[in-house]
Amino acid sequence: MNHIYYKSTRDNDINVLASEAILKGISDDGGLFIPEKMPELDFDIKDIVNMSYKEIAYKVMKGFFTDFTEEELKYCIENAYDSKFDTEEIAPIKKTKDAYFLELYHGPTLAFKDMALSILPYLLKTASKKNGIEDKIVILTATSGDTGKAALEGFKDVPGTEIIVFFPSDGVSEVQRLQMVTQNGRNTHVVAIDGNFDDAQSGVKKIFTDKEFIKELKDNNCVFSSANSINIGRLVPQVVYYFYAYAKMCSKDEIKFGEKINFVVPTGNFGNILAAYFAKNMGVPVNKLICASNDNKVLYDFFESGSYDKNREFLTTISPSMDILISSNLERLIYFICDRDSNKVAEFMKELSENGVYNISEEMKDKLKDFYGGYATEGETKKAIGKVYGENKYLIDTHTAVAYSVYEDYLNSTKDTLKTVIASTASPYKFTNAVMTSLHDKYTSVDDFELMKKMSELIGSEIPSGVKNLNEREVIHKDVCKKDEMKEIVRGFLK
Ligand SMILES: *Cc1c(COP(=O)(O)O)cnc(C)c1O
Repeated sequence: MNHIYYKSTRDNDINVLASEAILKGISDDGGLFIPEKMPELDFDIKDIVNMSYKEIAYKVMKGFFTDFTEEELKYCIENAYDSKFDTEEIAPIKKTKDAYFLELYHGPTLAFKDMALSILPYLLKTASKKNGIEDKIVILTATSGDTGKAALEGFKDVPGTEIIVFFPSDGVSEVQRLQMVTQNGRNTHVVAIDGNFDDAQSGVKKIFTDKEFIKELKDNNCVFSSANSINIGRLVPQVVYYFYAYAKMCSKDEIKFGEKINFVVPTGNFGNILAAYFAKNMGVPVNKLICASNDNKVLYDFFESGSYDKNREFLTTISPSMDILISSNLERLIYFICDRDSNKVAEFMKELSENGVYNISEEMKDKLKDFYGGYATEGETKKAIGKVYGENKYLIDTHTAVAYSVYEDYLNSTKDTLKTVIASTASPYKFTNAVMTSLHDKYTSVDDFELMKKMSELIGSEIPSGVKNLNEREVIHKDVCKKDEMKEIVRGFLK
């Protein structure tokens, strides 16, 4: 069997197998692991049309995780995509008047992060066994709201692991916050940090590359790994649902096999849409990848101008999981469009960390034609929720609404007639207040949990168990820290 090796986006001389890349999370040089080439499919995409989610997951992941045996990989998949999801379809597609919504929020924490974080713990445990690691694996994660809870659920009480989550104290919805601070499990730690998501993410990345601290932990039989989308163990499972969505569109006769479709992805850290880019490059017939941002529109500006510039005010919005100015996974796209020149990527990232900005060449910009960038303001986001509900009696969350609004702009400016699938990344129950007040002002001063009941009546669905009675659960995690205290906090947890 021919293995796929993973390089660092900042150093092509690094070559590791998938299991090691998953274990480490991030390369020692601060770069992200990237497959040396896109895996070649050993199946005809036509063959997946009638396959189940798990079958497609196996077909797609085996191309990337070449050092996992069939038995190992199937074990991981079986345990991940089980009754934790409230539908056997795992990711159903909902057709509305003018679009298709790929519902990626049927997992335990009601956001798309479950699609990958339900399998990551199994991948990690398998990888550590393969590599003869006996140390405790410490999962260190920064969250803009949804990753934290999904990672906590995935790793709670997994033997041999400890999970530490940092979230921005003022940057998450009330439901998101309660989901995290009420988390049970012997090995879970949740800390609010005085800062925004970028502060949390930068702090975590700094700890990952702090050689002395890593050695200190190693001496105490601990190793770090990451549950953020910088880990290829997150990215690869996300590629699966783009194959699956295409297969479903065919099997439901919405398209003929071979017909191109568009994907719209509400984007923050650029992980989800990068997975779609992988799927396109592996042969899924995709026309445009539509990258939707909220008011933190650093990606939109990048696609317009070729300049990535994070020197701007960080805004908190009603789509908090996309409130990000440093989109980590963009580094992987940059690597592709500069023809895998890792020195060049390292230079760009140095400029980004020193000056907050880098500019790509015209030649590189020409290679971004797969993408269309757009953004939605707060008003447009709310309007989109009202419109989709008004036309279809179908309720979408604020992140998905950003995507829908950008899709409308795309249609107006391109007159494209291809079928379009919108990645629906969270359940409206996670953002009750913003969603309900988009429908009517009368909900403005109603409390989140009262609104959940109203939402449930309105759309005729049960309140999902992941958020029901959340306000009555015991708050277990009360730690708060400043951004320069993160390392000390971690040290304290691991004593
Ligand atoms: C994380 C998240 C996003 C952004 O996804 P990225 O992979 O970071 O681009 C969008 N919507 C929701 C609900 C999320 O939780």
